[in-house]
Amino acid sequence: MRIKFLGTSSAVPTDERGLPSILVKTSGDSLLLDCGEGTQRQIIRSKESLMRINKVVITHLHGDHFFGLPALIQSLSILRKGSELKIIGPKDLDPLLEHIERVTYSKPNFRVVFEEITEGVPIEFGKFYLEFFPVEHAGFETYGVKINEKDRPGRFDPDKADELGVPPVLRGVLQKGFSVKLPSGRIVRPQDVMGPPRRGAVVVYSSDTRPTDKVIQAAKGADLLIHEATYLHDLKERAVATGHSTALEAANVAKAAGVKRLALTHFSARYRNEDMERFREEAQSVFDGEVIIARDFLTIDL
Ligand SMILES: [Zn+2]
Ligand SMILES: [Zn+2]
Repeated sequence: MRIKFLGTSSAVPTDERGLPSILVKTSGDSLLLDCGEGTQRQIIRSKESLMRINKVVITHLHGDHFFGLPALIQSLSILRKGSELKIIGPKDLDPLLEHIERVTYSKPNFRVVFEEITEGVPIEFGKFYLEFFPVEHAGFETYGVKINEKDRPGRFDPDKADELGVPPVLRGVLQKGFSVKLPSGRIVRPQDVMGPPRRGAVVVYSSDTRPTDKVIQAAKGADLLIHEATYLHDLKERAVATGHSTALEAANVAKAAGVKRLALTHFSARYRNEDMERFREEAQSVFDGEVIIARDFLTIDL
């Protein structure tokens, strides 16, 4: 799985940062987490394909998180996207998109399927599945997202295969999960030569939120927590008033959840990229793991 930040500003874009959107690429599907205005241009600038995107998750209906979506749908229609686009979001998003489609006479020429976010109802995403949980964003319906990779097959043990006399030509078949019959007539099953399944990667995205136990629970032991850090802690009062988090608060969430890595994003437009070391210092003062300061086009591989 590859994570690419397309926009890392909050509320308004700056000359350095676009509005919120994160591209999640897997070997099959590509997914957008939020789609702020200007996202499609960020995708093109990052040399990624618009056409490969087949799912978009909108975590809440603040304009900076979804105003790029009607524009993306229109471009995909002009570019003649063949397959369907699935949009996952709060229920009010569906009539809103339908209305835009109607009044702008821009019916897409591919299938757009809407799926309402429901807590506890996972959504399949290739070798992954998505789970959603409500967060605390000043009383506004907002969801965090957990991306779970399904378990990976166990490691192949070549010594075991030697011991059982499995010829090289049959080893790939076992690795794909099928039993084989040896020339001697003996049946070898995948579990005879493979270790136990390995846990897949887990990534959690907080969306916009005050620090909350919901994120901590979802992110327990996650490989990566992407948490908003709209402000530095000297503006905590402002964070409370607007339903956002400070870098210090995001780091406390990461610490409580015991995640491996913390990526901070969604920075207020008052900060410039040269201020970002202060976010790192603040987060690192409480969180021992790796702190990543997201910037537009930053890529993380898992
Ligand atoms: Zn926001
Ligand atoms: Zn918001």
